[in-house]
Amino acid sequence: MEKLKYERPVIKKLNAGIMNKFGMRTEFTPHTHIEGVAVKDIISKFGSPVFVISERQIRKNYQQAVRSFRTRYPKVQFAWSYKTNYMNAVCKVFHQEGSWAEVVSGFEYHKALGNGVPGNKIIFNGPDKREEEIILAINNDSLIHVDHFDELFLLMEIVEKMDKRPRVAIRVNMDTGIYPMWDRFGFNYENGQAWNAINKIMASEKLELVGLHSHIGTFMLSTAAYAVATSKLCDLAFNFNKKFGKAIQYLDLGGGFPSSNTLKGAYLPGADTVPSIDEFAEAITSTVLNYGFKQQELPLLILETGRALIDDAGFLLGSVLATKRLSDGRRATILDFGVNILFTSFWYDHKITPAQEFSHHTEDMVLFGPLCMNIDVVRETVNLPLLQKGDQVVVHKVGAYNMTQWMQFISMRPSIIMIDENESMHQIRKPETLAYLESLENIPEHLQQIKL
Ligand SMILES: *Cc1c(COP(=O)(O)O)cnc(C)c1O
Repeated sequence: MEKLKYERPVIKKLNAGIMNKFGMRTEFTPHTHIEGVAVKDIISKFGSPVFVISERQIRKNYQQAVRSFRTRYPKVQFAWSYKTNYMNAVCKVFHQEGSWAEVVSGFEYHKALGNGVPGNKIIFNGPDKREEEIILAINNDSLIHVDHFDELFLLMEIVEKMDKRPRVAIRVNMDTGIYPMWDRFGFNYENGQAWNAINKIMASEKLELVGLHSHIGTFMLSTAAYAVATSKLCDLAFNFNKKFGKAIQYLDLGGGFPSSNTLKGAYLPGADTVPSIDEFAEAITSTVLNYGFKQQELPLLILETGRALIDDAGFLLGSVLATKRLSDGRRATILDFGVNILFTSFWYDHKITPAQEFSHHTEDMVLFGPLCMNIDVVRETVNLPLLQKGDQVVVHKVGAYNMTQWMQFISMRPSIIMIDENESMHQIRKPETLAYLESLENIPEHLQQIKL
C-alpha cells in the first residue's frame, strides 16, 4: 500500500466566544474605560460624540509591524500614509517612531513638511501632482513616484529648467490574481508599460530612477497577492540591472494590509479571519530574498501601511438620542453620530459596545445615525442590550479613514482626543463651530438684507 502523504497541521487562533445562531459573537460586557480613562469622563469633558485615539496602541502596532519585517529582512523603512489619518498629532507619533511620510497631494505634502519631516523622507504618490508641487518636491529632494506618462513628461519638462536630478520611482500596477484589478494607478506591468516608462526615464538622463512602487489594493485578504506583486517588481528591478548595470535602490510595496475589522457580509469576525502582518511580511520578504539579488544589492523595502497600524487605536464615543419601534416591530436605536463622521460604516460592521452596565435583556436592533437621510445607518442589525436614551456607546476600530473622510453635513465634526501613554487626555482637534465654517463664506451685497 502506498504511504499516505503527511500534511503538516496548521494551528490558528479562533476566538469563538459565545455564538448566536448566525455564528456571530455578541458583545456582552460594558466597555467603560479607554486606556484607563472613563468613557463618561471623556464625554462629560469633550462632549458627545467624540473620537478617541490611543497613542500607546499606535506605537505598539507600529513597533510590531516593523518587527515583523525587520526580523525577516535587513533593510526596511515604513512611511506613514497621511490620507489614512493625517491629524498632526497622529502623524507625529509615527514620525517619532521613525516612520517617513507618504503623501498623495500637495496639501498632504505641506502637512508633512509642517510636521518636520525632512523633504528627502517624503514619498510623493498620487495622480494629482501640480507643477508647483513637483518643483517644491524636486527642490526638497523628495521621492517622486510617477503615476502616468503625462506626469513623466511634465517632470522632464520641469527638469529642463532646473539644475537638479530628481529621485523618482514609478508606480506599477499588475495582475496579482485579485479582481477587479487596480490598474488605474501607475504603469501596467503585463502590457509592457512599466518597462517602457523605465526606459524613457533612463533615456532622458535627467531623472534618477531609484525605486519601484506598487500599492495593489486595500483591505487585502490575500498574502499571495503580495508575493506576486513583489516578484513582478523584482523582475523589473532585475531586468533594469541587466540592461543598465545599476541596482534599483528600493522596492515599495505600498499598503493595503487589512485591520481586524469585520467587512459587511463576512461570516466570521475580522479578528479571526484576516492574515497577520507576519504573514504578509513573510510573503513579501521571502520573495525578495529568494529572487537572486546579490546580498549587497538587496533593495531597501518600503512599506506604506495605513489602516492596519491605526484602525484599532481609534474609538468613537457617542450617546443614544432615542429608541423607537419601526413599523415592522423591530427595535431602532438612534445615536448622535452617523455616516457623516463614521464613513467606514458603509463597508464595516463596526463592533459597538455599551459603555455602562445593562440588564441581561438583548434584542436585535437597527442603529441609526442622527442625519435626516435614509442611508444614515450605523448597523443594519446588531444584537445588543436594550439601550436607553442617554446611554453611551463605544465604537471600536475607527482610527483609519474616518478622521480624514468625514464630512461636515447637517452637524459639525466633533473633537478628537488622544490619550497618551501616561493616561492623560489631549484634545488634538477642536470641535468645529459655526463661526469656523462660516469664516469661508461670503454674502453678496444685494443679499445682505432680508425682510420677512
Ligand atoms: C492609501 C494608500 C496607502 C495606505 O493604504 P492602507 O490600505 O490604508 O494600508 C499606501 N500607499 C498608497 C499609495 C495609498 O494610496
